[in-house]
Amino acid sequence: MTNRRSKHPHKKKSEEFQLIAKERIKKLFEQGVEMFNTDSRFSDRYIELARKIAMKYKVKLTSAQKRMFCKHCYSFLMPGKNCIVRLTGKTITYSCKKCKKFTRIGYKSK
Ligand SMILES: [Zn+2]
Repeated sequence: MTNRRSKHPHKKKSEEFQLIAKERIKKLFEQGVEMFNTDSRFSDRYIELARKIAMKYKVKLTSAQKRMFCKHCYSFLMPGKNCIVRLTGKTITYSCKKCKKFTRIGYKSK
């Protein structure tokens, strides 16, 4: 019996990393929502971290996650609090109160 060791003991499957990354991103967005009422700066920080993880591991954010932050200043968006949500035809427009810019999100009707 030979004790065969992997040639790359530190090399994990990238899919494995992506799964972990997705979980972390999900948690960060959840924490962002939780912390918003306490201090929205925490929420912004969580979004920043989530985006960094997504970029590092090439993980795509879900459409639900994408609409939770401003595409321009990357601040956490809470409808009715720091952003105005408008429905126009097949797009949702989020206007960020911080940078005064719009983010348009298309959605598929079920
Ligand atoms: Zn903004």
